[in-house]
Amino acid sequence: MRIYEFAKKHNIQTKDLLKMLEEIGIKGKQTLSQITESEINKFEEYLKKGEKKEEGKKEVVLTENENVNELSKKIKIPSSDILKFLLDEKIIVNLNQTLTKEQIKKICEKFNYIPIFQETKPQTIERKVEKQPVYIKRPPVVTVMGHVDHGKTTILDKIRNTKVAEKEVGQITQKIGAYKVNLPEGSIVFLDTPGHEAFTAMRAMGAKITDIVVLVVAADEGVKPQTIEALNHAKSANIPIIVAINKIDKPNANPEKVKQQLSEYGMIPEEWGGNTVYVNVSGLTGEGINDLLEMILLVGEMLDLKAIINCKCDGTVIESSIDRFRGPVISVIIENGILKVGDPFIVGTTWGKVRAIIDEWGKRLTEANPSTPVEILGAHEIAIPGEKFKVVDSEKEAREFSEKMRRERENIVVPVKRLSLKDLYEEIKKGEVKELNVILKTDFYNSIDAIKNIFSKIPQNEIKINIIHSGTGPISESDILLASASNGIVIGFKVPVEPKAKELAKKENIEVRTYELIYDISEDIIKAMEGMLEPEIKEEMVGQALVKKVFKFDKNFVVAGCIVVSGKVVKDSKVKIIRNGKIIYNGILTSLKRFKDNVNEVSYNNECGIGINNFNNFEEGDIIQSFIEIEIPKKIKGE
Ligand code: GDP
Repeated sequence: MRIYEFAKKHNIQTKDLLKMLEEIGIKGKQTLSQITESEINKFEEYLKKGEKKEEGKKEVVLTENENVNELSKKIKIPSSDILKFLLDEKIIVNLNQTLTKEQIKKICEKFNYIPIFQETKPQTIERKVEKQPVYIKRPPVVTVMGHVDHGKTTILDKIRNTKVAEKEVGQITQKIGAYKVNLPEGSIVFLDTPGHEAFTAMRAMGAKITDIVVLVVAADEGVKPQTIEALNHAKSANIPIIVAINKIDKPNANPEKVKQQLSEYGMIPEEWGGNTVYVNVSGLTGEGINDLLEMILLVGEMLDLKAIINCKCDGTVIESSIDRFRGPVISVIIENGILKVGDPFIVGTTWGKVRAIIDEWGKRLTEANPSTPVEILGAHEIAIPGEKFKVVDSEKEAREFSEKMRRERENIVVPVKRLSLKDLYEEIKKGEVKELNVILKTDFYNSIDAIKNIFSKIPQNEIKINIIHSGTGPISESDILLASASNGIVIGFKVPVEPKAKELAKKENIEVRTYELIYDISEDIIKAMEGMLEPEIKEEMVGQALVKKVFKFDKNFVVAGCIVVSGKVVKDSKVKIIRNGKIIYNGILTSLKRFKDNVNEVSYNNECGIGINNFNNFEEGDIIQSFIEIEIPKKIKGE
């Protein structure tokens, strides 16, 4: 039996079923995967346990706007059981209908939970459904990912120019962030920014608009590091993946090799008994593109994608810019409801009134349906991709809401709390984390296996170490985004952190630890699990100075005449002296002068005199790097 069929049997959404299966250790399944007899037994056992779990009540944090689906995830009781209970109580609701507080309390009581209601945060724009919701089928939203130059853009353009243009002869498409293909069998929405960075950036914002990922691999080059990176990004979001083996027209195309390579990552083709869909295509000639579209529609069909049509319109921002003539332009994928010209709306911290709705042909529309990408004019400012768009009752409400949001944001000084090694013990104790998601970057492939091996020896009864992505090379922005989207940490072994990644990690409050010894990694993780992790001293380079001239006052007093070439140099900071690319001395910057004055710091492009303790061997051309130490306080076990 396939997963989607099994989900239907149990009246559970496929996505929820996959999550539940993961919880009981059945991983790597997708909608089309087969579920074996023994896996079915394991799952049914788990369902029964859920029914029996009577002793001791557990607390669960809830909002007042839960539906059966959400509640089922939070209290880990299958939604079918909740619906059955409600039916016994003569309460008839569907999976996505908001429950009343009383109903939530009843359900919690039944399943031995104590509900703790949390006020809904103003940041989240809740969908108010005025009437009994009416669902309609909606097209899948697809993101194309893969290694650079493997043909993502070519495939997207081919589909746009052939499939879309068939209907709209003579028109030129505008890039509005996404486009819709209407086929006789159904429609598909393609997001226009290929690659996993944008995808994960949106996820990190809490937006989940992609339903299916198409992973593009060039048949001549095969699997590359970014292919695996993209694969892991899609997997960590638990989104079905279709593999498009591209450049099939090339004489040296070897699709079988691609299948073999990806099989090593659990992507076993259907014809080999697995459940991954592979399609051979050529973005250049168009060969196989119809098959690819057909497979997308088939997978979309199985996902049973629905939108509510009779509610106030909402959607997600996919792009936003300021146009010189038209003002702020916001591209949105409509998710529920119908958007109409004249609707007042809120988006991010800004608001507006829909002045115009424009489709990917540049055509003005009077209204737009769910799963339609449109450009909206009329916002007061631009928004950020991933932010929610929501129609409200009046301009007054929109303005007030946006002002409130702005005040809220200004007041937020504490960055979002993220998982960190030093807090791991407490989080485990509170029962808030059960998995430590790790993004691992190393110098060589061999090191990945060595580290995975050492991780597997760490006792994991309290917490499971989950390497959601591993690869070689420097820690990049994309690694930080993945950590942010999956509440994980980044571990580097003998690799640097790219400056932009460092900045992003700081902004997103993501823990990045780099190591020189494999042993230190496992030791830190074990200590973190026990709440015994030593305080970490972080060294941060704040600037560099170039030695231009050396002044010898006497044998023991030598000053380097320098110019600051980046950042700033700071008195009493730790310094490294670099000569011909090598560190030749570590010390303390004991004397810092600007002209005749002693100063505490000297900034970029200024000259200064630098003296370093016990060092008088300066040479012209030496680089002095100034480091500040930041100490992270230690958390004591049991504190
Ligand atoms: P992206 O970086 O993944 O978006 O890759 P592009 O779409 O920019 O394609 C990279 C290069 O591969 C371009 O020179 C394309 O013309 C070429 N290319 C893409 N698809 C095909 C294909 O199916 N066959 C052949 N022969 N070349 C292709």
